[in-house]
Amino acid sequence: MAEGKIVRLRIKRQSGPQAAPQWEDFNVAYRPGMNVIVALMDIAAQPRNAEGQPTTSVSYEANCLEEVCGACAMVINGRPRQACSALIDRLEQPITIEPLSRFPVVRDLVVNRQRLFNDLKRVKAWIPIDGSYDLGPGPRESAADQETAYPLSRCISCGNCLEVCPQYNDKTGFVGAAVLSQVRLFNLHPTGKLHAGERLDALSGPGGHQECGFAQNCVNICPKDIPLTDSISAVGRQLIVHAVRQALGS
Ligand code: SF4
Repeated sequence: MAEGKIVRLRIKRQSGPQAAPQWEDFNVAYRPGMNVIVALMDIAAQPRNAEGQPTTSVSYEANCLEEVCGACAMVINGRPRQACSALIDRLEQPITIEPLSRFPVVRDLVVNRQRLFNDLKRVKAWIPIDGSYDLGPGPRESAADQETAYPLSRCISCGNCLEVCPQYNDKTGFVGAAVLSQVRLFNLHPTGKLHAGERLDALSGPGGHQECGFAQNCVNICPKDIPLTDSISAVGRQLIVHAVRQALGS
């Protein structure tokens, strides 16, 4: 696309959580190297639709602009992805932009991802450190475990893997691949292991690991190339061992 041309966008808009969604078209001036966030910033600077009528600026979330914070996840040309790494030159036009559909819409492209954060809390996706005093050196982590853990630690809680998961809905209450992978990460950590049993207990009930249908869409869409299907299998093995140990009382 040459300079001086127009970028055409079709954006699914919703003025509030209860409002009906509607599509609005926009044209913005093309500049080399621009991404979807730049186009949304242009609309915000001069909110007029493609007919030239004044309109409200499109609400969206963004922060780091380098695919690290996860905030700008949205569905672009039918594919969930980060808007900051969605380059205009590589997108067919008109570019359709929609909010993630698995979370409630707050306004336009802003969604409420609280369910994901609640599920991370449910499985204690953190390393418990009690107090601010010197605890001394912690246990060492083997190089092999570090190699396994690093890719898992790149999760940005964007929710893209949940958007393509057929099991992530209100009926199943499934926690989704991102949360299962975080359980694998924290159960691997020498200190995190202390709460491994509690994490696995949290995944043994409704919405837990058994809800996964292994569709494997998650691993193909993850922007951080996290080996999600490996994590799902690894956590499945941990759950079996955990259940056997519980049955044997060991
Ligand atoms: S696992 Fe990947 S797609 Fe899922 S929330 Fe984390 S970074 Fe996003």
